Amino acid sequence: QEDAIEGHADRIKVYVRLRPMSSKEKAVGARCCVREANRREVYLTEAASESDYLRLKRLKGRYFAFDGAFPGDTSQEEIYRCSTARLVEGVLEGQNSSVFCYGATGAGKTFTMLGTPHDPGVMVLAMKDLFAKLKQRSTEQKLSVSLSYLEVYNETVRDLLSPGRALVVREDVKQGVVVAGITQYKAFSEYEVMALLQEGNLNRTTEPTRLNETSSRSHAILQVIVEYSTYVDSHLVTRIGKLSLIDLAGSERAIATDQRTLRSLEGANINRSLLALSSCISALVEGKKHIPFRNSKLTQLLKDSLGGACQTAMIANVSPSNLSFGETQNTLYWADRAKEI
Ligand code: ADP
Ligand code: MG
Repeated sequence: QEDAIEGHADRIKVYVRLRPMSSKEKAVGARCCVREANRREVYLTEAASESDYLRLKRLKGRYFAFDGAFPGDTSQEEIYRCSTARLVEGVLEGQNSSVFCYGATGAGKTFTMLGTPHDPGVMVLAMKDLFAKLKQRSTEQKLSVSLSYLEVYNETVRDLLSPGRALVVREDVKQGVVVAGITQYKAFSEYEVMALLQEGNLNRTTEPTRLNETSSRSHAILQVIVEYSTYVDSHLVTRIGKLSLIDLAGSERAIATDQRTLRSLEGANINRSLLALSSCISALVEGKKHIPFRNSKLTQLLKDSLGGACQTAMIANVSPSNLSFGETQNTLYWADRAKEI
């Protein structure tokens, strides 16, 4: 039992990324309620600014420790290097790995995962690194990098590269988890990936909320399957690894809107997938034998990419603004629970 927990020690890593204060937040006089205390900890205080020194001293704050804490000015490259580069190495060794971004809408999940053409995020940087490393190792006798990009929305799976009807997820004895009919895009360089994923993101199901914000209520999953041959001790071996990169739906609670029923239905389902993910992670962290993957589409899809010999990185995204204090607190508690015991 002891060993089982020990064995997971390197398998699930949790990071927190603060984004910079937005101009919108600045315009309404938002103050900073969370800051990076050191490279591993953030400090959260309710509604106090750092200049409000006496008040800050009186207010009870709390430190949260993670495997990494990244302040607002952290570059995309550094986020990639610290959280995901290790996992890409593993995929080239034939491992399955997954990286998640968790947090409220507006906290920076999509920026972290996809980024912009000028400032690409983890998904694109991982592909770039992957192709560079394959160039060094692959014999080119057999080399295939295939991408699928899909969303889970209301417990329904859809292809973001070829939008249409709902797809069926089944478990195949040989192939593991299979999404029937999903597009397997053969990629040859990282250059095509940004445009492909941006286009895919336009197909994500989004709903305007009453707050006049576009809140993504779908989980977007990029799965990269790498198959190549390489020489190990002068023997030619074939390696297959899978990297899953997940931009989770906003973790905030379902907001009561005019379309109350539709929204609360969606909220329930988002909670179901996020809840199921939380349960699986807790079970893994606690070293349990039974992991409840079957409780949601998201966890079913990631069954072969979580636990076992897989490596997982969780990036919790938060806004620094005191206006988002509640969401930030929830996200930090969630991330705290995902850590190793
Ligand atoms: P989410 O996907 O969590 O809803 P986004 O990634 O869309 O949030 O981020 C919300 C806004 O904040 C976007 O305009 C995004 O460009 C910006 N943003 C998020 N993170 C950063 C960052 N680290 N640096 C600069 N801008 C950021
Ligand atoms: Mg987003």
